[in-house]
Amino acid sequence: MARTQAKKETTANKETTPAPTIKIANPRCPKCGCTELAKLPGDAHKTRTLKERDIVGMGPDGGPYNHVTWKRVKCAKCGQARVQIEYELRHAAAKKAKAGKKTA
Ligand SMILES: [Zn+2]
Repeated sequence: MARTQAKKETTANKETTPAPTIKIANPRCPKCGCTELAKLPGDAHKTRTLKERDIVGMGPDGGPYNHVTWKRVKCAKCGQARVQIEYELRHAAAKKAKAGKKTA
């Protein structure tokens, strides 16, 4: 009877992963204060992304995030280019972070 009892953990693994929550840290243009961004055609959004990092932390408004994206954006009004930082809370389903055993 050497049976290891596998404890079944019912994680909130839903079939439909909710859409990630994206919070933008600096949505306003430093020049005119406009929040509207110039629309880029086609797949320009790919080149807009400067870098992406899996960083876990708390956003400017206290909301948690686990992914940060830096994007090059352009103001729709005055054309001021700037880097927009997007804090994203991704609901990763396939994430195994088991830190239960700790035997020193
Ligand atoms: Zn502007």
